[in-house]
Amino acid sequence: MNIVILTGAGISAESGIKTFRDANGLWENHAVEDVASPEGFSRDPQLVYRFYNARRAQLQEVADNPAHRSIAKLINYCKNSTKHHAQLITQNVDDLHERGGLKDQDVWHMHGELKKMRCQKSAQVFTSPLHLDEKTLCPCCHQAGNLRPHIVWFGEIPFYLEEAFSLLNKCDLFLSVGTSGFVYPAAQFVSMTPETCRRVEINLNDTQISPVFDQHLTGKAGDILPDYVDELMEGLS
Ligand code: NAD
Repeated sequence: MNIVILTGAGISAESGIKTFRDANGLWENHAVEDVASPEGFSRDPQLVYRFYNARRAQLQEVADNPAHRSIAKLINYCKNSTKHHAQLITQNVDDLHERGGLKDQDVWHMHGELKKMRCQKSAQVFTSPLHLDEKTLCPCCHQAGNLRPHIVWFGEIPFYLEEAFSLLNKCDLFLSVGTSGFVYPAAQFVSMTPETCRRVEINLNDTQISPVFDQHLTGKAGDILPDYVDELMEGLS
């Protein structure tokens, strides 16, 4: 069986990281165009550095939850199987899937990662210090002012798209967890799966893409996923 799991901010909500849509389109009290767009970065780089520094610092105060750990259990089970394949694609920029039991290479962060920074000249990616700003020296060009958070901002192309499209084409089970269906192209992934694919949405509420799913599990991901994954794995074995 080919399984694709798409996660969004809702899976980290029970860990204490605020979602985005729940706060009226503001991200931690900031308009997204100010902190998550190339234009916002050109207008006020210091605000953007400060914003992501605060998000990065927050990671030290939170922990993964049962939903992250259940997904890791399923993916690690499939890694040891010759019959099944499961891939995680996350819109999240936190590292809670990794802390929940997955290796870095098992997590496709389509919107980037808080813990990384990128040189705007060479496009090389590095681990970010906790505090990144315009004075941080770039490890490749040894100059200040070239580094930005390794985050995909609105208007930029997400990572892993080609790989995602090719997996979605042959997907048998698509699980969408804690995502509002507002952010494209991730919101379109479910519609790219074949008709034979079972599409399951786990969310606190209905979303604007709910009609496309075959099954809705309403509630907290941390309450639903542990049992759901155990039952699924029984069926796989
Ligand atoms: P979103 O904030 O737009 O929507 C969150 C969804 O999760 C909502 O539909 C909500 O009903 C649901 N939800 C909330 N708590 C839940 C729970 N306990 N269990 C199940 N569902 C729950 O999130 P999005 O669709 O991922 O889009 C937001 C964008 O902002 C993403 O691109 C992401 O990169 C970014 N973001 C990331 C983080 C993070 O990394 N943790 C946090 C905020 C925003």
